[in-house]
Amino acid sequence: MPELPEVEVVRRGLARWVTGRTVAEVQVLHPRAVRRQAAGAGEFAALLTGTTLGSAQRRGKYLWLPLDEGESSMLGHLGMSGQLLVQDPATPDETHLRVRLRFTDGGRELRFVDQRTFGGLAVEQAEAGDPEATPVSLAHIARDPLDPRFDDAAFTVALRARRTTVKRALLDQTLISGVGNIYADEALWRSKLHYDRPTESLTRPLAATLLANAREVMNAALAVGGTSFDSLYVNVNGESGYFSRSLDAYGREGEPCYRCATPIRRAAWMNRSSYYCPRCQRVPRPR
Ligand SMILES: [Zn+2]
Repeated sequence: MPELPEVEVVRRGLARWVTGRTVAEVQVLHPRAVRRQAAGAGEFAALLTGTTLGSAQRRGKYLWLPLDEGESSMLGHLGMSGQLLVQDPATPDETHLRVRLRFTDGGRELRFVDQRTFGGLAVEQAEAGDPEATPVSLAHIARDPLDPRFDDAAFTVALRARRTTVKRALLDQTLISGVGNIYADEALWRSKLHYDRPTESLTRPLAATLLANAREVMNAALAVGGTSFDSLYVNVNGESGYFSRSLDAYGREGEPCYRCATPIRRAAWMNRSSYYCPRCQRVPRPR
């Protein structure tokens, strides 16, 4: 599943290759890819055709392109295996091509390719007066730590006010978005915090350190993924190894902690896994 830095790579690619272009034709090759469009593929195509795409935006793992004056947007979610490709029209169709946008300039097409089709596209109303034309369905999703408008001070206050545990809070999209399971484990390892630490027990400096570490981990992954910025092939897939390198905790069960050499442990956690160092990240004492 793509994590935020990979989605940001796609956003930058879209900003570079499709912003400012006008849609000439929309082809929906599989209805499941536009299932979030209430009235179906016909409505999706009708709402998109003739519009000019604005500057690509992202919130967490959601991407969107404002249409025309920003009263609506084309929202995209990559799901598990979705890709947005900018392709020469002469390039043969991909096996799992689901949606194609042709442009009035006759140049490269935008293709949505998705093998498992958990992702999808939809045209949605944007929040009124919002310069970023945020789709209404994303209004409840918090900004992510790579967003220039993310409010650090408000986040640390809100985090400490929650009656929950720290990893749950990091994965709560209404508090902070874009921190998936991998980055949560990495940020907690760097901060020497156990995943079940109650948020109310975090001091303000500790909360600030945790945020800084989450941001650092994500920026590091972004820097590695950034090599594809200049590529014509705007691409994301769950197989890519952008962050398989240089992980300190995630996926390292039984391997020595880079700080203290204690073997990293894996624990079952909310239908997922949590990787942590049992020495650096002590289990919190019961309240
Ligand atoms: Zn350790």
